[in-house]
Amino acid sequence: MLILGSCAAESEEQVMWSARMAKERGAAVFRASLDKPRTKVGWDGVGVDTGGPWLAKASKQFGIVAATEVMAIDDAKKFVEIMSEASVGQFIIWLGSRNQNHKYQEAMGRLVRENPMLILGIKNQPWRNLDHWLGIVEHVRAGGASDEQLFLVHRGFQEKDSEYRNKPDWKMMLEVKAKTGLPMIVDPSHIAGEARLVIATVNLALKYPIDGFMIEVHANPKMALTDQRQQLSWEDYDLLLRQKIASWKAND
Ligand code: PEP
Ligand code: MN
Repeated sequence: MLILGSCAAESEEQVMWSARMAKERGAAVFRASLDKPRTKVGWDGVGVDTGGPWLAKASKQFGIVAATEVMAIDDAKKFVEIMSEASVGQFIIWLGSRNQNHKYQEAMGRLVRENPMLILGIKNQPWRNLDHWLGIVEHVRAGGASDEQLFLVHRGFQEKDSEYRNKPDWKMMLEVKAKTGLPMIVDPSHIAGEARLVIATVNLALKYPIDGFMIEVHANPKMALTDQRQQLSWEDYDLLLRQKIASWKAND
């Protein structure tokens, strides 16, 4: 599974462009978060009412699955409604690493059970702890989600004195993949925290039997409303990653 696209949905035009660029590069999925968890008060996403219809339109127009993060169950339900009414087929919501509310995780599990077109991504929590990571999956399953509609995302763990924004733990990643039996994709953008480190992180991840990547790519990273430092431009993606990912997909 290859997921490409911007950190956040910023405007309809930007979402449409992003979906088109991702599709042209063979990605099955484009990403655009509708809610952004923020450390401090500030711009925190366009929200599902405004941006949901953009994602539905882009998904239909370019024949590519839309993936997003929302932060409350009512917003997840609204997103499901918007995508279902637009008949887009499959769509993805992921549980963000900072959204560690087990009631929300279970409720998402129920939403998945009720909606066969909804695929749920589960990111690891920010701190390094095997049991907690496995626990998120248990909560989602307790809600009734079937494994065919679930996948995991490793985005590293926040650690002091690390060159990474979030340090990967490849060993734990493989353990969680084995214990849950779920597909595992890697998010080198949130691991690296800096565009120049994203490529090195992809190279490291490629040594392991993973099931895909979620990579942040933005038309103009310097103007991005979130995660400016770590988003690649489409030109950089083409120059530095396109061939590598294409041959990885071909050999898989
Ligand atoms: C994101 O994917 O944009 C994001 C906020 O990531 P994480 O939850 O891993 O920090
Ligand atoms: Mn981001």
